Amino acid sequence: MTALQHVKLGAYYVVTMPEPDDFDFWRERARALVQCDVPPDRVAWVEPGGSGNLFSHGERRMPVPDRDAPQVRASRAFVTLAKNAILHTDTERFALLYRLLWRHQANPRIMEDKTDGDVRRIDELARIVRRDSHKMHAFVRFRLVEESDEEEAGEHYVAWFEPEHHILRANAGFFMRRFANMKWSILTPRGSLHWDGKVMEEGPPAQRSDAPAGDPAEDLWRKYYASTFNPSRLKIGAMLKEMPKKYWKNMPEASLIPELVAGAQARESAMVAAGEVKDEARPDTLAAIEKALGICRRCPIGELGTNAVMGEGPSDASFMIVGEQPGDQEDMQGRPFVGPAGQLLDMHLAEAGIERKSAYVTNTVKHFKYVMRGKRRLHQSPTAKEIDSCRWWVDSERALVKPKLVLALGASAARGVLGRTVSISRARGVPQMLDDGSELWITAHPSYLLRLEGPAREEQERLFTADLAAVAARLTELVA
Ligand code: SF4
Repeated sequence: MTALQHVKLGAYYVVTMPEPDDFDFWRERARALVQCDVPPDRVAWVEPGGSGNLFSHGERRMPVPDRDAPQVRASRAFVTLAKNAILHTDTERFALLYRLLWRHQANPRIMEDKTDGDVRRIDELARIVRRDSHKMHAFVRFRLVEESDEEEAGEHYVAWFEPEHHILRANAGFFMRRFANMKWSILTPRGSLHWDGKVMEEGPPAQRSDAPAGDPAEDLWRKYYASTFNPSRLKIGAMLKEMPKKYWKNMPEASLIPELVAGAQARESAMVAAGEVKDEARPDTLAAIEKALGICRRCPIGELGTNAVMGEGPSDASFMIVGEQPGDQEDMQGRPFVGPAGQLLDMHLAEAGIERKSAYVTNTVKHFKYVMRGKRRLHQSPTAKEIDSCRWWVDSERALVKPKLVLALGASAARGVLGRTVSISRARGVPQMLDDGSELWITAHPSYLLRLEGPAREEQERLFTADLAAVAARLTELVA
């Protein structure tokens, strides 16, 4: 008996999913069922572990499509939505996806009909899942545990998170890229992920009590959060939307929120009077900054799945160079200014007689901001808000290194040091005194030179060379 005969005889097919998020399995079964002309009301999709008893009278074997069965059509819009929607916990999702796939065959443009109930529902499921993933990216907080086993000794970070949907596996790659150099585990009631720096392993569901409640690095994180909390911009509704209360229990900074909100009025007055963040709230070593940067998510750039790139150089350097942000190469190597712009900078520094290794080299924004173009990650400039969010870190580096002269490369770096926007053409060559008594010099970013050609490039190289020569001369005076 052929598959088509089965259907004509009123057979039901029961498909039991092996995993609640297995899109490839669903796709393979759905294709075969469409090719065998099995209408949606003859298929029961069963969650893993489900019995499908209602259909015990039905046919459980999958039909096998004929060799000349027509190809199954599915638009890209459908596949994209389906990959997210299948992660929802709605038990009807597999059937909904199959119904839409089935309807696609007669109407390939069905996804364009935004009044269609099935299209609206898949849209909604996908949107809810994307929001759940976004919350996971934003609200997972790792706690440090020291491993005692001799072979495994070292730092291990553990986080507890309660996703509403089946998003854990789908987000493994994000955390793997984002925390590539750490050993970590994410524990959830739906399963767990374990990364040892090389291999990702999945584990069973966990309980909150399996995860540690806190660690020493959280003090630093709380200090940072408190120091960047701006009571004059307090909007409780927006804050709750951005950081729903449900996730507060996982987040070290959340314990500060009631106190900060309650004291907002008084703090606003104090800030107006004092103006600045108190120095004692800052980390007291460069290593502490580096550690805290690894978990920083104060701005959306931190969610792009890249590594935070810390500054490098002598911790008591007289000369500090501040760039904009790490690029593709810097992100991969975890070091500032190692890509093409860094090579151009090195060449000009050498020409000016400045040894790069004598300088502390850093960036005003610590994560790489990019957009994907095919397989390439293309640089995107940070916004003023993102620079201001990250400014606390470069300020903290300056407070520890105490350079006599700071050279800001480009407008973003200048804003990161000064806290306001300046025009490079007006500010270059004119040193400015910073609050701590050091001098700020501003010039163009070498990547700007790389984007120019012909006479414009020659002119900018000439100006850049002159700026570095002036900086070299001033440094000689300052360290004499
Ligand atoms: S770019 Fe800066 S502020 Fe934004 S997440 Fe990274 S370290 Fe934090």
